[in-house]
Amino acid sequence: MKWRVGDVTITKIVEMEVTGGSRFILPQATYEEILPIKWLQPHFADERGRLKMSIHALVIEAPGGGKNGQRIVVDTCLGNDKTGRRIPTWNNLNLPFLAYLEAAGFSRESIDTVLCTHLHVDHVGWNTMLVGDKWVPTFPKARYLMGRVEFAHWRAAHERPDMQAVFADSVKPVHDAGLVDLVETDHRITNEISLIPTVGHTPGHVSVLIKSKGEEALITGDFMHHPCQIAHPEWCSAADSDPEMGQRTRERMLEELSGRPVLVIGTHFAGATAGRIVKDGDTYRMDV
Ligand SMILES: [Zn+2]
Repeated sequence: MKWRVGDVTITKIVEMEVTGGSRFILPQATYEEILPIKWLQPHFADERGRLKMSIHALVIEAPGGGKNGQRIVVDTCLGNDKTGRRIPTWNNLNLPFLAYLEAAGFSRESIDTVLCTHLHVDHVGWNTMLVGDKWVPTFPKARYLMGRVEFAHWRAAHERPDMQAVFADSVKPVHDAGLVDLVETDHRITNEISLIPTVGHTPGHVSVLIKSKGEEALITGDFMHHPCQIAHPEWCSAADSDPEMGQRTRERMLEELSGRPVLVIGTHFAGATAGRIVKDGDTYRMDV
């Protein structure tokens, strides 16, 4: 799946899509609450009210750099062979993510930049891959951009048993290899691509703004996990580090986005994945 925004192209590379079983992340999203939100079907919920969610990377191709332009991977999913994850089905994966990436025309060596919107387990996995018994950078020629505040937070928190593994196998190896650039939450990557702060889900969380030839797109990261939070901005994710700030961020972003023709590309939105935010009574919806 591809989108064009002026001179920029964005390609979705899916690692995993699931229907149901996401209630742990959005406890208020019961079947009874989801069913009446008709626009969620069929892309984002099924006819029983179960949420559909996706874990995917987004590859941005922008002008500049070498003959292929700039190639930026936004968020690197769960990764293969990882262990010590709290969610049982996220351990010891053996999924064809790299084959899909290659089939879409992106070799590992051709990636210039990797950007993690934040350092949660499902956004850093393919930063590294297992070679022999060592975690090595998956994208050897890339600079890995991580938020300065975000990195400091997780480095300090990585004594926590649930974070220990993630930091150790997916963040530390690329940092030790000298490939990490710590950036501010409003960092500009190219003329067309910049970060904007959308904190609350984590302390240094960012979204990615793409502007080219008068067109605009936004890659959300996890300030929204699922489109049901467009209808219910007050629904917080169980994974939010500061739920109140997360809600304020969501309300501010939805208000801003609903007034402008911005293509919103959801980091965990399944199916069509992208659309435009419009006002819908006293709340919002997404038109795909
Ligand atoms: Zn996530």
